[in-house]
Formats: sequence, C-alpha cells, structure tokens
Amino acid sequence: MSLDSTSHPGGPELVPSRYALRVGELDVLVVSDGVLSLPGAMLAHNADPAVRAAWLKDMFLPPDVLEWALNVVVVRSGGRTILIDAGMGAEFPDLPRSGRLALRLEAAGIDLASVTDVVLTHMHMDHVGGLLAGGVKARLRPDLRVHVAAAEAEFWESPDFSRVSMPPGFPDALRSTAKRFLNAYRSQLRPFEAEHEVAPGVLVRRTGGHTPGHSVVRLASGGDRLTFAGDAVFAVGFDHPEWYNGFEHDPEEAARVRVRLLRELAATGEPLVATHLSFPSVCHVAVAGDVFRWVPAFWDY
Ligand SMILES: [Zn+2]
Repeated sequence: MSLDSTSHPGGPELVPSRYALRVGELDVLVVSDGVLSLPGAMLAHNADPAVRAAWLKDMFLPPDVLEWALNVVVVRSGGRTILIDAGMGAEFPDLPRSGRLALRLEAAGIDLASVTDVVLTHMHMDHVGGLLAGGVKARLRPDLRVHVAAAEAEFWESPDFSRVSMPPGFPDALRSTAKRFLNAYRSQLRPFEAEHEVAPGVLVRRTGGHTPGHSVVRLASGGDRLTFAGDAVFAVGFDHPEWYNGFEHDPEEAARVRVRLLRELAATGEPLVATHLSFPSVCHVAVAGDVFRWVPAFWDY
C-alpha cells in the first residue's frame, strides 16, 4: 500500500498534522513535520537481519523502507511559546515528505514571531533543519533563545561518526547542517550543562547516548506530566530496547538511556511523546517480561 494523501491539488491537507493536549496548565501541541523514508536496516545494526525482518512483518510494515514520523512539540507556559525541535527543513532533498513544519505551524495559528524559546533535543538535521528553512530565521524574534546542551554544541564542532550505521550521504549532510545551524544561531544559543528550566514546568535534561548532548524535555504542571523523549525511543525500542539504531553515535549508552527512561515511565505511568513514534505519538509504556510494550493513547477529540 502506498498512500500520498497529504494533500490534493488546490485543497487543504487531508492528513491530521497537529494534536493538542493539556498537561496541567501547559498547552501542548504535537505538530508533524512529515515523514522520513529510511531503510529498514536503520532499525538495528546489531540485530540478525532475519529477526529484524520478522519484527517488521509482525508490525505489518514493508521489509525495506520504513516511514519514520517526525514530530515536533509546541508548549505554551505563561507568556512563553516554546518550540521543541524544528523538523527537517529542506536539508536533505531525498526526503521530500518532510520539512512541513513552517506550513503546519501557520495552519495551526502559530506565528513564528510568537516563539520565545526553542529547545533542541540534539542537533541532527531532522531536529534543527526547520530553523534553516527559507525565510524562517527572518520571521523568528531577534531575542529568541535556543536552549541546547553545551555538550551537543561542542560535539558538532568535531563530530565522531565512527559508531553510526547510516545510509550514504547522511554523515556529510548531518555535519554540514549542524555547522550551518551553529553559524546561523550561535549568538542565540543558551547552552546548559545537565538540566535547565526553560519555563515553569518545562525542564530540559541531558541524557547523552544518541548524541553526547542528546536531551529529553520533562513537562510537569498540577499533577500532570509528559516527557518528550526526542530520539531516545523509537518504535522498535519497546520490543527491542537493546537494538542499536543506525543514527546513534554511542549505541551502548543510547540503549542504557532508553531502558532507564522506559523503566521510569512504566513505573510512573507518565505519558510519552517521541520524535519518530507514529504521529501524534502520545503513548504510555508498560513492562512486558524483559522488555516493554507501547500503548498508544486513545485520541481525545
Ligand atoms: Zn531524529
């Protein structure tokens, strides 16, 4: 089955691209930047290909190419509008179904000029590219703050790709996008060491693993909580948390970070949103024997 149902000529988009929820006093919007078509092998480079293929088959997914969701989050806390990650932009022409963030923010009534803060889980191009897309920087406020772990900005000055397993072309594209991003936004960076409270109830915390400065965002208000896990958790990570994703710069540490986070969320019952879980990605985590179970939230209309 192949669906390109994102739009029809001259009409509005037919697929849902935003999902709103409340976390106590915080307004949260999950916005889709589109999807990335990536080789199925990216799921794990330390798994037996037959086991990997069996997982895809069990999930009713094709064996060769997997469509990865690309979720971005907008949080409103008090007078602040916080964009968490920014999607792909136009950084990699081979991924034409992504890079829709600016359009979809506009469709959701969110003016780029209203964004006071950007929080980056890390500096891979599918998370920062949207900030480099045509006309975006000019529409953002000159006093915009961009929060990113100090270790992440440092890493991309001289990145290590020795442990990744990416399709050809990706390492160069990731390097050059990160460099362009640092050059464009350096004066607006607000680096933090271990954690930083961006606004009341919005805490960004460095985990490392996926990249040295990879971070997750913990939202808490009233009795409610929600974690945006960035790339700490992928769809396959519930069944196979020990599988090394091709984009992880320190795969052993990434697996430890994933297991620790999934265990914690399973224990607390706190909901999870992650970049590459199927849109809108709001879900819970359950324990299933030695591994985990992904429990998508029922949509709340
Ligand atoms: Zn990513």
